[in-house]
Amino acid sequence: MNATALADTSDPVLPGHALAGAAASVTDRLDRPLRDLRLSVIDQCNFRCTYCMPREVFGAHYQFLRASERLSFAQMMKIVRAFVALGVEKIRITGGEPLLRRGLESFIERLASLTSLRGQPLDIALTTNGSLLATRARALRDAGLRRVTVSLDALDQSIFRRMSDADIAVTRILDGIEHASAVGLAPVKVNAVIERGVNDCQILPLVRHFRETEVAVRFIEYMDVGGATGWSKSTVLTAREMRAIVESEYPLVATDSDNGAATSVTYRHADGKGEVGFIASISEPFCGECSRARVSADGQLYTCLFATQGTDLKPWLGDVVPTARLIDAIHTRWNTRDDRYSELHAERRRTGTGKSYPTVRMSLVGG
Ligand code: SAM
Ligand code: SF4
Ligand code: SF4
Repeated sequence: MNATALADTSDPVLPGHALAGAAASVTDRLDRPLRDLRLSVIDQCNFRCTYCMPREVFGAHYQFLRASERLSFAQMMKIVRAFVALGVEKIRITGGEPLLRRGLESFIERLASLTSLRGQPLDIALTTNGSLLATRARALRDAGLRRVTVSLDALDQSIFRRMSDADIAVTRILDGIEHASAVGLAPVKVNAVIERGVNDCQILPLVRHFRETEVAVRFIEYMDVGGATGWSKSTVLTAREMRAIVESEYPLVATDSDNGAATSVTYRHADGKGEVGFIASISEPFCGECSRARVSADGQLYTCLFATQGTDLKPWLGDVVPTARLIDAIHTRWNTRDDRYSELHAERRRTGTGKSYPTVRMSLVGG
């Protein structure tokens, strides 16, 4: 085990720990390695996207986590160190809206001081709605953030308003994206969830807007995660349909840049001007390659976006509990993982045995 990965812990470093040899090869029951961690730093958000936090559920009386219920950054560091010791190299910070969490830059700075088992800096990414990005991009970059994904579902102000249910100008998000590119966060990606009949008319404008920039746009199938109360199969525009819309104006060629664990299938414009990706979570689930663990802002480990129950990591987060115990707990949980909900849901939908309703909220566990 690389001691540097654990260097800023107060624990004794763990070179003799039983996991040391096996750490980089932690696999689940379906032989999937543990590769990335998505860490939700807050469950609150300043948007109320209809597909994620509909206002009728997440209204004025909704009980978000109290500050005291959220993990501290010190606890999150302990979690990250444990995942790094198990071979994880990619950390994506998410939420809720992660830029609402005060002190995020100093947390990123601490994360950036860690190295992977291979002695490399961690690959630190952020997913944000972009509303607070323009003023924060430089400080985030200076803290050690490498790349950023900005969610933007429409360029048209009224469609954006309808989907985000927030009084925020699209230009503010575009400004955030420009600042992120200007300070050298790379790549900058834009994610757009497409809902049939609501923002499918925005696919071509989004492609047009970003195609001559360094920003790659990715279109995501609308998923039936908890929070997506308006979801039905008929609201899903499939990746194939989205690609046909793009190709009606812009011919695409497949790239070979995807690795097996990538969620997105990426294409290049035939004229070389930029990239477009499609995330087919519903029509072509990629559970077989899913190597992602998620930790919610209150310290629950979820091994699937659709899991109905997490594993509470808090018992292992106290100062006096050695990190080795936390590593063991995560290792044991990953070993027993057999989730493949999107594949099972797709089978159920195909065979017409009804919709099973998932309960995990994307805003809690992060997308
Ligand atoms: N607030 C940040 C943002 O919007 O980028 C980070 C958290 S958000 C939960 C992460 C991602 O989940 C976003 O890109 C969002 O579009 C996606 N998401 C949320 N609900 C979804 C749904 N029902 N179907 C597909 N993607 C969804
Ligand atoms: Fe907030 Fe992101 Fe969910 Fe929209 S998708 S409500 S911005 S957490
Ligand atoms: Fe991974 Fe679960 Fe999504 Fe399948 S449904 S890709 S196992 S998060």
